[in-house]
Amino acid sequence: VSNPYRTSENYGVGKVGRVSAGIGRRNLRIVVTGGAGFVGSHLVDKLLARGDNVIVIDNFFTGRKENVMHHFGNPRFELIRHDVVEPILLEVDQIYHLACPASPVHYKYNPIKTIISFYTVIVILDCDYKTNVVGTLNMLGLAKRIGARFLLTSTSEVYGDPLEHPQKETYWGNVNPIGVRSCYDEGKRTAETLTMDYHRGAGVEVRIARIFNIYGPRMCIDDGRVVSNFVAQAIRNQPLTVYGDGKQTRSFQYVSDLVFHRSSSYIFVVRVLPTYFFVICGWDICLAFVVDGLVALMEGEHVGPFNLGNPGEFTMLELAEVVKDTIDSSATIEFKPNTADDPHKRKPDITKAKDLLNWEPKISLREGLPLMVTDFQRRILSEEEGKGL
Ligand code: NAD
Ligand code: UDP
Ligand code: UDP
Repeated sequence: VSNPYRTSENYGVGKVGRVSAGIGRRNLRIVVTGGAGFVGSHLVDKLLARGDNVIVIDNFFTGRKENVMHHFGNPRFELIRHDVVEPILLEVDQIYHLACPASPVHYKYNPIKTIISFYTVIVILDCDYKTNVVGTLNMLGLAKRIGARFLLTSTSEVYGDPLEHPQKETYWGNVNPIGVRSCYDEGKRTAETLTMDYHRGAGVEVRIARIFNIYGPRMCIDDGRVVSNFVAQAIRNQPLTVYGDGKQTRSFQYVSDLVFHRSSSYIFVVRVLPTYFFVICGWDICLAFVVDGLVALMEGEHVGPFNLGNPGEFTMLELAEVVKDTIDSSATIEFKPNTADDPHKRKPDITKAKDLLNWEPKISLREGLPLMVTDFQRRILSEEEGKGL
């Protein structure tokens, strides 16, 4: 099949990785599935900013047009409303496959394609599992046909309720195959299997990222995840809902600097005796985040899987304290029953990403949270104004 976007040999099969970033670099044609979502939209910003052509495929299940609207009118940007569960024909160099609802609330309840007719609920198919399996199969089929490089955003959930701590990529996990989280956990495990089978069996160039909990601007305000819940609750003067005893742990990483990089900067003071120098750096120069990790993985030579996460580990009670310190020290805590199969602890070992991708997160929870709070305050305020509150 002819590829109108490959104008030279440089865009051929297996050569994408050798197209280096920076001056003299050829612009690529890149698909981002799930590009209207939280992480995807930050990735799209980054790819467009470095001059690439980006096609977003999204069915807007959990994503929002608002996340990418600032690119409308950019000739290098295209948005296609499409469900990855259906095949699609495109001609591109790289595929970032993110499409998949990531919040447990979405994947446990809403993602089930339900038809509600008065008192009848017909469960057609677990959409999260289908998206992960059939959607990934289609994107791998696409990658195979056009010789594109394919990156899967897998998850720390493949480790389940881990018996090894912290988790290394070599750990095979402890997942309940029939639990309420299985559509996501097992769906991603199957997606990883498919990815490696297309790599071994069909020679597709693949990359696998295992991402740990992310927070930041553009997160769905009411998606039920712990950071978005706590931040929204503190802003709305509601109690912070801690599930279970709050002693379970997670490791939170900040999504990206891109929303703020034009307006914010750090000032460093460097002392070269006997003089002090002030060095001003934009966020984008100083900090590396998960979106950068994904690009480093795509552009690098290693298949993975790679853990991409921040090794800082917090109990939910500790997280609540950080949120209180950041937003409202008088906020109260309300304990609620925990959900089934909730992993007790999670913390990435990122030695592999450090050694092979030269990547590590740089921003701590206490630094990243205020950036998210600014975004949430603005959106919650405009929501309340819209409702006439
Ligand atoms: P998100 O829900 O904000 O974004 C997912 C996007 O995929 C949305 O825009 C949604 O509309 C789209 N989508 C869902 N099903 C689709 C389908 N069938 N066809 C087309 N589009 C579809 O989630 P996110 O937090 O941005 O996560 C992005 C990716 O990163 C996911 O693959 C997720 O599993 C992975 N991940 C996220 C986290 C996290 O903490 N956010 C952690 C680990 C892994
Ligand atoms: N596919 C797609 N776009 C393409 C090529 C394939 O969506 O450009 C889908 C295709 O419909 C199939 C899946 O990817 O469902 C796997 O394709 P593959 O060629 O590997 O398998 P086959 O079609 O031979 O079963
Ligand atoms: N959690 C909580 N309060 C909330 C939402 C979640 O205490 O309002 C807990 C949840 O039980 C889990 C942890 O926070 O132990 C992380 O949940 P989240 O849904 O954010 O991510 P995941 O479980 O997928 O890591």
